[in-house]
Order: sequence, then structure tokens, then C-alpha cells
Amino acid sequence: MQRSTIREILKITKRPDIISFAGGLPAPELFPLTNFQNALIEAIQTEGPAALQYDLTEGYLPLKEFLCGWLATYGITTTPEEMLLTNGSQQALDLLGKIFLNPNDRVLVGDPTYLGAIQAFNAYEARYASAPMDSAGLLLPEAERIIKKVRPKFAYLVPTFQNPSGITMTHARRQAFLKLATKYALPVIEDDPYGYLRFTGDRVPSLYTLSKGRTIYLSTFSKILSPGIRLGFVLAQKNIIQELVLAKQAADLQPNTLLQRAVYYYGRAGHLEAHIPVITESYRKRASAMLDAMKQYFPSTIQWVPPEGGMFVWCRLPKGLSSAKLFKKAVEAGVAYVTGSVFHPNGGGDNTLRLNFTNSSLEQIKEGIQRLGKVFSEAL
Ligand code: PMP
Repeated sequence: MQRSTIREILKITKRPDIISFAGGLPAPELFPLTNFQNALIEAIQTEGPAALQYDLTEGYLPLKEFLCGWLATYGITTTPEEMLLTNGSQQALDLLGKIFLNPNDRVLVGDPTYLGAIQAFNAYEARYASAPMDSAGLLLPEAERIIKKVRPKFAYLVPTFQNPSGITMTHARRQAFLKLATKYALPVIEDDPYGYLRFTGDRVPSLYTLSKGRTIYLSTFSKILSPGIRLGFVLAQKNIIQELVLAKQAADLQPNTLLQRAVYYYGRAGHLEAHIPVITESYRKRASAMLDAMKQYFPSTIQWVPPEGGMFVWCRLPKGLSSAKLFKKAVEAGVAYVTGSVFHPNGGGDNTLRLNFTNSSLEQIKEGIQRLGKVFSEAL
């Protein structure tokens, strides 16, 4: 196992003169401090000692029931028995690795894919078979070739506003992918922390919805409420949830008693559904400031796909330029990003990089992209 390159980069970018597009942090000024404080107080006042006691591994039932109703508004139909609350979706990745993977098992992923999933699965000595992507998602002929050749244990995808590429798999591509998964009896894990943050375009149904609940779905309160509360959820068929419950019992017994209740009272008061549009609108403005600045300041040979939501834009430099080599120059110029190669489990992606737009102001975004444009222009 290796330390996360991103977490190492984040240390460098703590310098106050650096505009950092490197992390994946939500905008802290949007955290709903007052409403969440009230929900915490309500949880303790209403539930008394139970709010501080040990609790069920499966999660707090009223929160699960609330979530079922909330998810239905996004076209996701599920039941509390098909849900497990986890310590962030990062824990769900670890638990899924624990129940599915033996050493040397292959995992089918997109190229690029989420670094934290690679870290989680590495602990179980997984290997990766990565299929390239275009602007509509995973390329299916490549994916099928991989499935036939290495018989992956499961597919791990971030189909909506992917971290790191920002790409959303189209409806048609999702249906065709699910057909492929069914043909080869390939379990599918859909990781969806960003899907609720759409700022343009039409919603695309989740793989979980399209497969009528036969795939595994992960999401989290990290991007729509707070990452610090470490609360996420998995949806899956009951037998898989039962396996995950065993794995979770061994890992940490249960989700956090108090915070589950606070989120329940927060959600029940209508704050979750009211707050998501506030976040989304703010991110829409930041994304559009970044894309506008990129058009203005980046050399024309640099390519990107404008994201329709989420937190990231992915850039492709002309072949031959290395984003890792340019990183030092960028930091000297006072701007940081994440080098794209870290998201490629089997190597490659040297000319790519990830930019985050949710943790900088509109002014910082413009200034930072201008600085970066200068670094790229000089390198070219
Ligand atoms: N999956 C993806 C694709 C992510 O981007 C993240 C957060 N960066 C996570 C999972 C983990 O999120 P959390 O544990 O905070 O829910």
C-alpha cells in the first residue's frame, strides 16, 4: 500500500499564497452550521441517552426510512433491508473489497478511476483491468474484451460526474453496459457521491435504478451535507447487505449513533432537500468561472469535457507534456492541481490532470487558471 499522492500534495498546497485546485473539498462556507447544530441538539433532547449509546450495525432505522423516501425523489426505489449505513462511502469500498476480493482478483475500472477505490481494493491485493473512456463513459468493446479475458470479480464505476474526469456515462451507454454485465454475470458497484450535484443538463438514471436494484450503489452525505460527519450508505440485495453487516461488525461495530440521528432530524426538517440546490447553484457558478477562464487563458491544444455537475474538470495536455513534471513549475507560479497519472492504476495518463472548482472563490478560480495557463503556454 502507498500513501495517497493527493493527500501528500494537499500538504504542499496548504501554503497561503497557493491557489489550490488539487483537493476535493466541498466549499466550507456552505456548511449548514445553524441547521445542523439545531438537529444535533434536537437529537440529544428527543432521544436522550439513546443518542449516545451503542447502536445497531445495520444503522438507525428512522434515518434509513427517511433515506428511502428521499432517494425515491431521485428515481431510486429501495428498502431499509437493502441499505447499510457506513462510515463514509470510503468504508463501503473497504467492506466491499473485504467480502468480494481474494489476492490477484481483477477489478474492472474506468481509466481513469477514483484513487481512493484503488487504495481500498489494494489492501485486498486486487489487480486492475482498466477500460478507456470517452465523453459518454466506459468504452464497451474494450470492457467486453477485458471481461472475457480476465473475468473480473466486479466492475467499479463512478458513472455520474466521475472523480476524476467529471464525465457522466450516458443513458444509452449505461443500458448497454448493464446488458454486458448481465451477459457475463459481472457484479457492478456504482459509486455515486456527486450525482445529487447536477448543475446543468438532464438527470440520467442510476445503474441501480436501471438494473432494478440488482447492482450495488454507494453514496454519501460528504458532498451534500458534510464530509466530516463520515456518513455514507450502500444499497444492495439483502444477501450482500448481510455480508457487509458482518464485515462492518468486525471493522467498527456500527455507524456513529449521534450523527445518524442528527442527520435524521436535519433531513426530516426538510433541510437536506432545501440545501442541495444552494450547493449546486454555487458550484455551477464556480464551474462556469473555471471553464470560462480555461477558454480565455489555456493554450488551444489543451482539451477538456465540460462537466454537468460534481466537483472536477479533467484536462488533457498535448502528448509529450507531463503534468507531473510541470507540477513544480505550477507550484512556483502559485497554483496546484492533481497529476492525472495517479488515477490510472495500470500506468499512463501522464499528460492529464484534475482541477477542483468547489474549494476556491470565483476570483481565485480566475487568477489560478490564468497562472496555470501561463505555465502551460511556456511549457508548450
Ligand atoms: N468515492 C468517490 C468517487 C469519491 O470521490 C469519494 C470522496 N472523495 C469517496 C468515494 C469517499 O467519500 P466519503 O468517504 O467521504 O463518503
